[in-house]
Amino acid sequence: MRYADSIVDVVGGTPLVKLNHVTEGIAATVLVKVEYLNPGGSVKDRIARKIIDAAEEEGLLRPGGTIVEPTSGNTGVGLALVAQQRGYRCVFVLPDKVGQDKINVLTAYGAEVVVTPTSVPPEHPDSYYSVSDRLTAEIDGAYKPNQYQNLNGPLSHYESTGPEIWKDTDGTVTHFVAGVGTGGTISGTGRFLKEASEGRVRVVGADPEGSVYSGGTGRPYLVEGVGEDFWPGAYDPAIPDEIIPVSDADSFAMTVRLAREEGLLVGGSSGMAVVAGLRAAKDLGPDDVMVILLPDGGRGYLGKIFNDSWMRSYGFSEVAQEKTVREVLS
Ligand code: PMP
Repeated sequence: MRYADSIVDVVGGTPLVKLNHVTEGIAATVLVKVEYLNPGGSVKDRIARKIIDAAEEEGLLRPGGTIVEPTSGNTGVGLALVAQQRGYRCVFVLPDKVGQDKINVLTAYGAEVVVTPTSVPPEHPDSYYSVSDRLTAEIDGAYKPNQYQNLNGPLSHYESTGPEIWKDTDGTVTHFVAGVGTGGTISGTGRFLKEASEGRVRVVGADPEGSVYSGGTGRPYLVEGVGEDFWPGAYDPAIPDEIIPVSDADSFAMTVRLAREEGLLVGGSSGMAVVAGLRAAKDLGPDDVMVILLPDGGRGYLGKIFNDSWMRSYGFSEVAQEKTVREVLS
């Protein structure tokens, strides 16, 4: 018999898939690492497992404890599923720009959710950082993983994502591209790949236009899960060789193309990473092997990126898809 002892044991080991259509005109091999195939549906399952393992080992999380975390949703799902299997309660604090679909997923796993306004600065008492600090102080036995500062986040990628890419490309990978949120993915994976290749692998960060990583101040953008208005400790600025800023419009247009042309129903930060990757791949040769990490799936964005009226309300190009029988036959 071949089975996993629990769903937590199938985190990681995601496949690399070649892009064949959106890469027209590019000589390099462009592969994507499909993180929505993790059990919680995103790359964040990796850090959740590592962070909870470490907290248990360090005695920060004890039986009956509560996990409190500000999260855009995906980290919450990862933490919720690992916590549930280990018997912990979860309370998540989310900014109000996060879609209702993502909130429903968290509550489906049995987590509690508190929604806070996006429009206030991080130091404001109602910001999602402040509210999570308050809850952590007030709930007995609470542990705040703090994914922005927790070095077990990048470490999980150093131990899993990086080695998987190295092994699956037989050490031929030349470029690694990832969006930057907490910075954990790019810092941990990038560091491993640089060490394994003795500095040969070039690491490219993708950032929403306006965020600090590409020189902005944190001006609001609509792509979720990436970009910041402060510098998190999980991010190691020495790892990326280059940061490419990408607009919401370009990110969402590519997200729609990935679904329609590559059969990859992914989120907006995946579209953003692919846009940055393809810009960086433009001048590469046939021996180059680029790996772009796609953090999550598109189901949490059906009411947004894949919804015509939402896209039009922000001035993004239409994704018209629903048709009447008459239109199809005409
Ligand atoms: N995309 C999405 C959808 C995410 O939820 C995250 C995590 N915040 C990222 C990208 C960025 O990953 P990291 O935090 O490791 O930089």
